[in-house]
Amino acid sequence: MPTDPTGPDGAVQSTENNNLALTFDDGPNPTYTPQVLALLGQYHITATFCLIGQNAQQYPELVKAIVAAGNTLCDHSWDHDEQMADKSLAYIDNELTRPIAAIQTAVPGASVHYYRQPGGNWSHTIVSEAMRMGMTPLDWSVDTDDWQRPGTASIEYTILNKAKPGSIILMHDGGGDRSQTIEALRTLLPTLVANFHLQPMPTNPQATADRSGVHRPYF
Ligand SMILES: [Zn+2]
Repeated sequence: MPTDPTGPDGAVQSTENNNLALTFDDGPNPTYTPQVLALLGQYHITATFCLIGQNAQQYPELVKAIVAAGNTLCDHSWDHDEQMADKSLAYIDNELTRPIAAIQTAVPGASVHYYRQPGGNWSHTIVSEAMRMGMTPLDWSVDTDDWQRPGTASIEYTILNKAKPGSIILMHDGGGDRSQTIEALRTLLPTLVANFHLQPMPTNPQATADRSGVHRPYF
């Protein structure tokens, strides 16, 4: 079990159980999100999707497909502003709340349990605002660097060498050409499924309550 589950400003960097969590950022994307969903479905597993609000608004059918397959939702800001930490509270609140509205327009009543800050550029204000809105701040522990398109072999090597029970793997289904990510997943999923419990980040109320306790000192 991991010993230090919290990262920058208290954002979680572990599943806090023995599961392995795949997380996909910057979608939904009409080319790559359906491919990720098909691959996950092939192995009867689910993941956590960190959606950009603008994309959720543009592709509501993809939001529906993500939810219908049983995946966990994560807010990834309205327009991927990596400099949000330097801006006003009103600006931050707008960046965090608009994606939830877009998601719930696509899927009425959908719960968004997590928030992930673009670029991992957290601040205490961003963390506390996400939690005030009922979202757990979600960081990661294994960065595949897939957004830089380092080559399929590099993505696979990073995951095979760094993944362990409790890991949160950062990958991307949007924001550019993600064909390397898709190919790495296609190659690795049989091995990952054989060696880990692949589950989305937990959504039970107790987990959220526990996080509140962890973060209380920041208020
Ligand atoms: Zn991102």
